[in-house]
Amino acid sequence: MGFTKFGLSDHVMKGVRAAGYATPTPIQSLAIIPALAGKDIIGSAQTGTGKTAAFVLPLLHRLAASPASHVRGHHPRALVLTPTRELAQQVQIAVAKYGRFLTLRSVSIYGGVSMDNQLKLLKRGADIVVATPGRLLDHMQRGSIDLSHIQILVLDEADRMLDMGFIHDVRRIIAKVPADRQTLLFSATISPEITSLAANVLRNPEMVEAGERHNTVEAIEQHFYSAPREAKIDLLLHALEAEHMQSVLVFSRTKHGADKICRRLDRGGVASVAIHSNRTQAQRDRALEGFKAGKFRVLVATDIAARGIDVIGISHVINYDIPPYAEDYIHRIGRTGRAGASGDAITFVGHDDHQYLKRIEQFVGKHFPVKKYPGFTARDVQVPVKHETHTPPHAARPQQHPERKPPHGKKRTPFSTPRKKSPRRVLESFSSDRGGAGWSNY
Ligand code: AMP
Repeated sequence: MGFTKFGLSDHVMKGVRAAGYATPTPIQSLAIIPALAGKDIIGSAQTGTGKTAAFVLPLLHRLAASPASHVRGHHPRALVLTPTRELAQQVQIAVAKYGRFLTLRSVSIYGGVSMDNQLKLLKRGADIVVATPGRLLDHMQRGSIDLSHIQILVLDEADRMLDMGFIHDVRRIIAKVPADRQTLLFSATISPEITSLAANVLRNPEMVEAGERHNTVEAIEQHFYSAPREAKIDLLLHALEAEHMQSVLVFSRTKHGADKICRRLDRGGVASVAIHSNRTQAQRDRALEGFKAGKFRVLVATDIAARGIDVIGISHVINYDIPPYAEDYIHRIGRTGRAGASGDAITFVGHDDHQYLKRIEQFVGKHFPVKKYPGFTARDVQVPVKHETHTPPHAARPQQHPERKPPHGKKRTPFSTPRKKSPRRVLESFSSDRGGAGWSNY
């Protein structure tokens, strides 16, 4: 059955048709009816499942059905909080797309860009505000936004907001929103922290769950290949060619790493671009546009920067660095296989990465054998033999790669273990939406 069963208004339905959607996704089938009825919802849905439309469509329908009072200013009536500016942009684009036949106005509010334009837009009045917590608080402190007319509050990717340390900001914002409101909370994982947040901010919520809570997107094939640090770039170049990959998202743990991967890919003749916290908003937008347009074959990103990236047709996600947290793995691989398309996720597993692999396996509830990449022989490194790795028949003779000279004449054998950096909790010092100053490594 199509979207007609929901009883969405004609104008919203026109927006759905214009978006080209014929059949609701599972989360949409479950969430739209209770959301239209004004119920609070906890939606357990991963990225790529169509969760944005699951809350935007009922939100548009309900706002359009109760026109704004213009008596004392055009105050926002719906607020969507997102963890990152990229996701805020994506949600606002979705609002504009589905709501194009309505007269509702929307504004997105996030850091890293000047306040002026946002101030102008807020002054003009908006029905829907999509915001990241930090910048929204800045506006609240300046008095440039009044949340006392909010009827619908959406917490999108709530787990990520908590991971990023936004809990206090989120609570301060919620305190300024009327208690008599509808609250929709979406989260890829329902952790005890999410349950406790929900207990405080939702009223008698309906739980809607699309698919197994911890399971990764069905359509994605997941591969794990052993790759010592020194061999990763060669393996990446090899895999790009071997599988004729065309639209590839590569994840690096740090921004410096992302730049380095990009430089090496460029040198290897692969057009690539990096997106991370050191890039200005304009640079990130350009990078994303270039990637979408096919100008760059590879987009190298850090976890934070990649949040909210919605590019249909990413054929491969490559975890150049395995994520230290299993939740990040789910979010990363969710960038491929979007909206029912198939996709491949490849993770490079280094000597010191087995603890992280274990975390992923526990989280996903599945054992992933680590294999040797077919047809790839590291030029000057030995592939580690651990965890079901196939032993290469002849270990490669250690040689000094011309590009890997030891710094300052220091001797480093190709087999030496790289200095082990303890993975930091990704968001300790993170305040992405306040201009990027808090982005240290990501
Ligand atoms: P989301 O999980 O909200 O980020 O959505 C993932 C992708 O699915 C987006 O590109 C949407 O445009 C697309 N999408 C959402 N709902 C549908 C639908 N019912 N049919 C086809 N594509 C959809």
